[in-house]
Amino acid sequence: MLLTKNLRNLKKRLMKSKTVVFRKCVSCGKIKEKNGLFRIVRNKAGSVLLDKTGHEEGRGAYICRNKECFEKAFKKKALERSFRSGIEPEDKKRLIEETEGLG
Ligand SMILES: [Zn+2]
Repeated sequence: MLLTKNLRNLKKRLMKSKTVVFRKCVSCGKIKEKNGLFRIVRNKAGSVLLDKTGHEEGRGAYICRNKECFEKAFKKKALERSFRSGIEPEDKKRLIEETEGLG
């Protein structure tokens, strides 16, 4: 009885402290919860990579966690536009490989 009550209070507290962050997909333009998106980062060295930890430094761009949005982003050069620079073919290849099967 008491335990249930404590759990309920804990849940309430967690809900309150949880901030939901929304980001816009550079491919389709939809605004989604951050954890439903891939974060792509262009670091200081100029390489573009998939931010697996969410803490990579650099300029970030978000794409929905699905293949279609990813492919569309490359076709539309949405990432290039977002980073205001080109993406090396090797980086592009690696991004595609890394996101394959993740969505
Ligand atoms: Zn999208």
